[in-house]
Amino acid sequence: MSTFGPEYVRAIAPYQAGKPIAEVAREYGLDEANIVKLASNENPFGIPESSRAAMLEAAADLGRYPDANGFELKTALAKRYDVPLDWITLGNGSNDILEIAAHAFVQKGEAVVYSQYSFAVYALATQGVGGRAIVVPAVDYGHDLDAMAAAIDADTRLVYVANPNNPTGTFIPAAQIEAFLQKVPAHVIVVLDEAYNEYLAPEHGFESSAWVRTYPNLIVSRTFSKAYGLAGLRVGFAIAQPAVTDLMNRIRQPFNVNSLAQAAAVAALNDTAFLEQGARNNADGYRQMIAAFEELGLEYVPSFGNFVLVRVGDDDGAGARVNVALLKQGVIVRPVGNYGLPQWLRISIGLPQENAAFIEALKKALG
Ligand SMILES: *Cc1c(COP(=O)(O)O)cnc(C)c1O
Repeated sequence: MSTFGPEYVRAIAPYQAGKPIAEVAREYGLDEANIVKLASNENPFGIPESSRAAMLEAAADLGRYPDANGFELKTALAKRYDVPLDWITLGNGSNDILEIAAHAFVQKGEAVVYSQYSFAVYALATQGVGGRAIVVPAVDYGHDLDAMAAAIDADTRLVYVANPNNPTGTFIPAAQIEAFLQKVPAHVIVVLDEAYNEYLAPEHGFESSAWVRTYPNLIVSRTFSKAYGLAGLRVGFAIAQPAVTDLMNRIRQPFNVNSLAQAAAVAALNDTAFLEQGARNNADGYRQMIAAFEELGLEYVPSFGNFVLVRVGDDDGAGARVNVALLKQGVIVRPVGNYGLPQWLRISIGLPQENAAFIEALKKALG
């Protein structure tokens, strides 16, 4: 056991990422071409063509530092969300935004509130600054916003809310978020993490950036990793009022978003055809998945994201066991035992043939 560094850093459990395809091929002696990866909520269509072209063009200038202020990307985002440029912070993925918020607003010993079964990075970001985590029990695998508001104590500086939530896929309607924002004390920052916002059906979607106008303590966080298909490039952004944005910009690395990522994100933002194709595929794939779960009599949590959580057994070894049985068949999904959900697996929605391969492998795995 290392004795270097502060105790709160040594206490951090490392993030468990989805297994890369090459690693599974090596470990199980499989051909990479036959492996299906539905483990990291990536876009099954990959990078948009428009982004690929923009990156190739931007590659000519890679000898220079990126634009530290991300002018073109911020301009495009400002136009899209109808906010001034100085309301936007760019991140090296939205993971960066979540951490920047913790660094900017939480000191050692101060508290951060988040929900049980919410995104693993909230715990990491909290521990990284020596913060005290207040983890509020979930209701029906989703956020209990009333209990979260009640859990805010005198030392609380930050609250993370994921909507839709990962890994459970639960969704909080706009009216409940707004009621929550009204209850949170004005000095407590709320990070509303909307990594899957673009997958919401029109009747569920709402323009949360408009709330930023009303609530000076609100940070809305979005990403290009999921619906926009740019996970490998690492681009996310935050919308918040200038006082909050100014502090986040002091904490972030000056060149946290690289030139290729900036160019690709501008192109993707304007590629509505790509988003529509992804949303359609996702809705169809979700129906394909839950039809199979219903046929197999498996419990699942209704999802509003591009993934679904399914219970594959009643004992605490079930998730790990079925996961290995799937890996042997070349299907990579995400076990969620580290989230306290050892009976469950999280499956990203893929292309129809990928979903079908997973369903077939699942049937064999369950014997
Ligand atoms: C995937 C995800 C993110 C972060 O993704 P980045 O690639 O870092 O932008 C943030 N929040 C949630 C809930 C996620 O699932």
